[in-house]
Amino acid sequence: MLSEFQLIERYFQRAPRPSGPVRLGVGDDCALLKVPEGEVLATSTDLLVEGRHFFAGADPRALGHKTLAVNLSDLAAMGARPLGFTLALSLPSADEDWLKPFSEGLLALADAHQIELIGGDTTRGPLTLCVTVFGSAPENLALRRSGARPGDDLWVSGSLGDARLALAALLGEIALDADQLAVAAERLHTPTPRNALGLALRGIASAAIDVSDGLLGDLGHILKSSGTGALVHADALPFGLALSRRAPHEQRECALTGGDDYELCFCAPATLHDAVLEAGRQSQTAVTRIGSLRAERGVQLVDANGQTLTIKGHSFDHFTS
Ligand code: ADP
Ligand code: MG
Repeated sequence: MLSEFQLIERYFQRAPRPSGPVRLGVGDDCALLKVPEGEVLATSTDLLVEGRHFFAGADPRALGHKTLAVNLSDLAAMGARPLGFTLALSLPSADEDWLKPFSEGLLALADAHQIELIGGDTTRGPLTLCVTVFGSAPENLALRRSGARPGDDLWVSGSLGDARLALAALLGEIALDADQLAVAAERLHTPTPRNALGLALRGIASAAIDVSDGLLGDLGHILKSSGTGALVHADALPFGLALSRRAPHEQRECALTGGDDYELCFCAPATLHDAVLEAGRQSQTAVTRIGSLRAERGVQLVDANGQTLTIKGHSFDHFTS
């Protein structure tokens, strides 16, 4: 059986890149991280609990990816550049058949985003994964939730709803062909954080959030912080590949209230419409305009004919569901 320190050394300790922001990584009492001159530190934590955020027995490689991805997504939504992250890990046992693929999934995504694991904590207990990310941005360019203004365009990256569709199938709420489930489940299990887009939107977006709990709920956070309302065109919503084959009511429900998409929902002045498209091209990320902001509070959802639609279900809230 591996000791705690052997486990850390074998799976989580790597020499920091000499040219990167990490001055001291895993192995001391603290890590030392250099924040670029003139920038502020952006930090965020996300906790994944077995049985709550992922199924017992979930694929460890995908879990490693998702544990970091959901945190990178918060940096993306802030327009912050990733610097480093810590990992707090509670494990039932030092199972190397789990640790190896978990650390590989985690560190592969870390390498893809040039962000380093700089420390953490390891203990025995129920499987719980907690990453804290650190990033930086010039203070005036950080994308806050509070900057949206009436008249701004409302945008979303990538596509929505496949993660919720996969979850519905895995929970037995709906039937989905194996090939469609494979497509949708990829979005649920290995989400793609939109960091390149978040960086490209600096100085363009007036507000941003990542869609983790459902578009309507997360848009609601922007609207509340900004003191505005929004008009959303249901027909403009970009549906995920698997979702695009489903019935219209299911499409709307999954895209508007489904969680786990990890796309960016953001606002930008209408005058910067082309700059948003250019940011999408630059970051090789699809961007779709889905509505606009207005002074009148609340969200109005309309179809292609301008008819108001209502939608049942709310975004996910851990203490009400
Ligand atoms: P301390 O006693 O100061 O809490 P630990 O003995 O828990 O330190 O950890 C030793 C070193 O290993 C520290 O640098 C810590 O940040 C790092 N570490 C512990 N667990 C992890 C982990 N899961 N991933 C990465 N680094 C870790
Ligand atoms: Mg410790």
